[in-house]
Amino acid sequence: MKPLIAQYQNICTRIQENALRAKRTPDNVQLIAVSKTFPSADIRTLYQVGQRDFGENYIQEWAQKVQDLADCSNLVWHIIGHVQSNKSRPVAEHAHWLHTLDRLKLAQRLNEQRPSHLPALNVLIEINIANNPAKHGIAPSEMMSLAKQILPLKNLNLRGLMCVAENTDNAEILRQQFTQMQQLLQDLQTIAPNADTLSMGMSQDMEMAIECGATMVRIGSAIFGQRDYSSAN
Ligand SMILES: *Cc1c(COP(=O)(O)O)cnc(C)c1O
Repeated sequence: MKPLIAQYQNICTRIQENALRAKRTPDNVQLIAVSKTFPSADIRTLYQVGQRDFGENYIQEWAQKVQDLADCSNLVWHIIGHVQSNKSRPVAEHAHWLHTLDRLKLAQRLNEQRPSHLPALNVLIEINIANNPAKHGIAPSEMMSLAKQILPLKNLNLRGLMCVAENTDNAEILRQQFTQMQQLLQDLQTIAPNADTLSMGMSQDMEMAIECGATMVRIGSAIFGQRDYSSAN
């Protein structure tokens, strides 16, 4: 078996185990395989063993992969990196999910650019839960007002929230941040009927995220290996 497939299956097993330990249904924790900097061939390998959801950060790199993998008709693309407004069109035209919606202007552009033959673009509001000025995302206190502005946009489907937690192995800090996300999702659900998604947890902090209610985990290096950014754009 290829190492890539073995690492993938290992992560699928770990997600199931973590969900069961947290007394959750494993099917309620979806794996987003984060393939940034890795070639289309790796995505195809995992697609062929049944993985459907892939996460990408860099729009130009991703646009090439969209072309390469156009024959994979059930592939679901998740954009998980920051999107500049002038890069919104490919997202509107080819993505199924955007995890990093952080401002009204981007929402309005995506709403206008979403082709009418496609279903509404699933969007998550990115929360800067670590309160790190170097990171993207809005403050928790701004979430409800942005959500209210997004809800009337008919070509967007507001599905929930996303965060990148603090880069720490301190379990209590992680638990506090992920629990705050869970509370924020409950707040959002009072106004957004389709908000069922909490995208949180990466290779390093997946277990705590699942314990705190993540419905999507975004796993890159634990599946694909160490990233080499020297050729990335
Ligand atoms: C790269 C990336 C991931 C995956 O991180 P790993 O540590 O490789 O699992 C998850 N989420 C976001 C937003 C990323 O940019």
